[in-house]
Amino acid sequence: MQPSVFQHPRSFSGLFGGICGALTVSSARHDIVACMSDVRRCGISCALGVSTFVESVAFGLRPIRPSSHVLRPADRRPPESNGATRASARKSPCAMTVFRGKDGCEMIYDIAVVGGGIVGLATTRELKLRFPALRVAGVEKEDGFNQHQTGRNSGVIHSGIYYKPGSLKAKLCVEGRKLAWAYCEQKGIEYKQIGKLIVATDESELGRLDDLWERGRKNGVEGLEMLDAAGIAQREPHCNGIKAIFSPVTGSVDWGLVSRTYADDAKAAGADFYLGYEVTDIARRGGVTILSTPRGEIQARYVITCGGLYSDKLAKMIGGARDPKIIPFRGDYLILRPEKSHLVKGNIYPVPDPEFPFLGVHFTPRLNGEIWLGPNAVLAFAREGYSFFDINPPELWDALTYPGFFKLATKYWQVGFGEMYRNLVRSAYVKALQRYIPELQPEDCLPGPAGVRAQAMAADGSLVDDFVFEGSEGVVHVRNAPSPAATSSLAIGKYIVEDAQKRFDLGRATVTA
Ligand SMILES: Cc1cc2nc3c(=O)[nH]c(=O)nc-3n(C[C@H](O)[C@H](O)[C@H](O)COP(=O)(O)OP(=O)(O)OC[C@H]3O[C@@H](n4cnc5c(N)ncnc54)[C@H](O)[C@@H]3O)c2cc1C
Repeated sequence: MQPSVFQHPRSFSGLFGGICGALTVSSARHDIVACMSDVRRCGISCALGVSTFVESVAFGLRPIRPSSHVLRPADRRPPESNGATRASARKSPCAMTVFRGKDGCEMIYDIAVVGGGIVGLATTRELKLRFPALRVAGVEKEDGFNQHQTGRNSGVIHSGIYYKPGSLKAKLCVEGRKLAWAYCEQKGIEYKQIGKLIVATDESELGRLDDLWERGRKNGVEGLEMLDAAGIAQREPHCNGIKAIFSPVTGSVDWGLVSRTYADDAKAAGADFYLGYEVTDIARRGGVTILSTPRGEIQARYVITCGGLYSDKLAKMIGGARDPKIIPFRGDYLILRPEKSHLVKGNIYPVPDPEFPFLGVHFTPRLNGEIWLGPNAVLAFAREGYSFFDINPPELWDALTYPGFFKLATKYWQVGFGEMYRNLVRSAYVKALQRYIPELQPEDCLPGPAGVRAQAMAADGSLVDDFVFEGSEGVVHVRNAPSPAATSSLAIGKYIVEDAQKRFDLGRATVTA
């Protein structure tokens, strides 16, 4: 029997957290807004609490993953690389660990790249390949690479059809996809070009489908075909639709594996990696940028931050703008039972809503033969919160009190409720999926993994769509690298390094301490 919510400490804390969220948001703003909108806002916050409560009762206790954002005790582990012999940690007289080269002098890298996800690793690799003499360090807070977005995504090689012509996304996705193919070929990494159908199920979607076709053409996406209902049935016999775009160049790969191979390339070229080093402050002194971590200071002439879900926090450490802010949106997947995988042959996607391009149910075949359904998008209660029960109160408060989130939530509360409802009630989620595969039944779906998207949001509540890079003296920040950043990663790495080359004069001889 399911334990009652009050016998259930974690369920109770979920409910308590939700109610606190509701009360505090409501009361904090009570004096500045009209009564009616206060009621609506309170309703949204209550929905978080109520839905937490409902899921607590429905699904019972689930383990809370310990927050990886907690500072770890210092240890003296040397950096992970072939440079480990070159740079070792010693105590300075002021008891702060600094890293020293073979000669015993303080190690000052030419460039340090913060973030061991696919964007940081592609950048580190590109720096070492293009400038072999540069001393480059990669700094990651986790004990391994790809613990967050890069290791928890759909594994799709995107074609580039969706993005506004002329945008960085459009350019870097198409270029990155081609580079990714060549890279996988060269390294023997398995990938498949399984194609994708973007399916309109009723007349109201046809205008947006035509717009997408036009975008794809302008972005130079190869081989697009417009299919009628018979064409859809030929490619996907179980799929319902009246018209669809078929993109043959959309594929599937393990982005975690790809980016670990980037790290291997960078290590082989001489980069040092500091794993388990969380950057807690960034300061610039005498032309050197100091990265403070609980395990010591890492010094570099220049720094590039690629912090994913914490990209805004890293930028703010050294005077970066408050906006855009990262609001975390969790996406839960379902997995089709293996005996039902014949229902789906390639990727099946809906026609996206231009306001929320990442929303909508997706059918995604994985390289191992699994078919993933989703992900959806609901507010995550922690930036690295991979279940409904992962709650980080300061981070949740930070998101709820951001004016941009507040504006988005009040404007699109119905969309938010819809996503949350489908998140909690599997039959509702399956109903959305049945629009494309009518044969699908709730019992055909198993619970799957989850990922959290780092969604950059402006103070006016608009979702920042394009990739965003921001620079100041000695530092470049990647402020927004959402999907398709994995597909685009090699092109993003090139873009950042070319930009850094202009800003930082990387051609000059390396510094010595
Ligand atoms: C659910 C989901 C599905 C997706 N599907 C696809 C897809 O199919 N195809 C595609 O192309 N893209 C997809 N994406 C997007 C893609 O995964 C991301 O855009 C990409 O992984 C971003 O890489 P990143 O390196 O910027 O971020 P991350 O992979 O999140 O890496 C950031 C790293 O920075 C580290 N870090 C943060 N703060 C600090 C600090 N203070 N000190 C040290 N280190 C720090 C983190 O620990 C982390 O390892 C998806 C994303 C999600 C969430």
